[in-house]
Amino acid sequence: MTHPSVPSRRSFLHLAGTGLALSTLGLAPAQAAVPRSAAAADAAGPVLLNFNECPYGPSPAAQAAARDAVERSGRYLFAMAGELRDLFATQHGLGKEQVRLFPGSSEPLNRAAVVWTGPGAGLVVADPTFEALGDLAAARGAPVARVPLRGDGAHDVRAMVAAAARIDAGLLYLCNPNNPTGSITPADDIAWLLAHKPARTRVLVDEAYLQYSDQRSVIGGVMQRDDLIVLRTFSKLYGMAGLRLGVAAAHPDRLRELASLGDNPLPVTAMAAGLASLRDPDLIAQRKAENARIRQATIAWLGRRGFSCVPSEANCFVVDVQRDGTAFAAAMAERGVVIGRSWAIWPQRVRVTVGTAAEMARFQTAFAAVAGQTP
Ligand code: PLP
Repeated sequence: MTHPSVPSRRSFLHLAGTGLALSTLGLAPAQAAVPRSAAAADAAGPVLLNFNECPYGPSPAAQAAARDAVERSGRYLFAMAGELRDLFATQHGLGKEQVRLFPGSSEPLNRAAVVWTGPGAGLVVADPTFEALGDLAAARGAPVARVPLRGDGAHDVRAMVAAAARIDAGLLYLCNPNNPTGSITPADDIAWLLAHKPARTRVLVDEAYLQYSDQRSVIGGVMQRDDLIVLRTFSKLYGMAGLRLGVAAAHPDRLRELASLGDNPLPVTAMAAGLASLRDPDLIAQRKAENARIRQATIAWLGRRGFSCVPSEANCFVVDVQRDGTAFAAAMAERGVVIGRSWAIWPQRVRVTVGTAAEMARFQTAFAAVAGQTP
């Protein structure tokens, strides 16, 4: 049995391999796997390119708003939650009945697995993709069909629809841009999927990274359909991973099903920072452009050295390191640059989060050393 104050192994599965799960749990640094070798002892500490976090954190306005909210945090401030929901709804052309806020998007993802999958209701996911939903559905005894991405990194919507029919899926998960690849599934492909999937199969589109891309959101579709759920998070471009704020947009009946597992009020600091982020007219464009510039420069540098990446429009990419990815990541960590993990389907590829320009310079130095090249 899991100790109540310690997240389950499953919930921390995606932290494995870096030791950060352990440090997050408050274990002594000596027990954590992040190496403290001499090579890693850079004055700035290790470079963390492993969780697709935003290296800039909350915007200055969001930080000020969160600080201000602490003073009022003896209250639940439910009215602020209403204000935030209404602003999000207005900005996205939705009714407020189609929007529900959560402390992060992991929460509605987990709830989706509980309410819409099980032994008699399968799940279809891409491979590779963000594992949370697939792991939880499998643990609940649901058949899980993992459908390889197409060569261009898009979800293979035709194969996914066929799989949904085959396993009688209650839910199909589509992450756009996809984690770990950052690759895109065009809106037309998603439209095809929605038109051809089995009637019983709900479609959950996870748009955690959409703000980094040039793709059209499908969020407006929840005004016409009752079988589409779209998730957004403030953890990525808005830099609020530790503050915890996410959104589920769907038909009110679907939102009621998600809510049937109980309520959980939002942190007031997150609500205040979320409002400030939504009200900032320049934040998305600014961070999107900066991320794209640094990502493209890094991928071009890797390409010149003979290492290919799946095309990405997000704050992460997957690079083919042409040897065991887990060992490569461990060697990078020894040099003070902690990159992400490998997926079983691609053991020689590793996910890398796009950091600041200075962080990616350190990434390049470490990568060249591990690959046995001159920097
Ligand atoms: N969805 C995707 C695709 C993710 O990559 C993540 C986190 O990395 C999440 C959801 C969960 O993020 P959060 O709970 O911080 O909103």
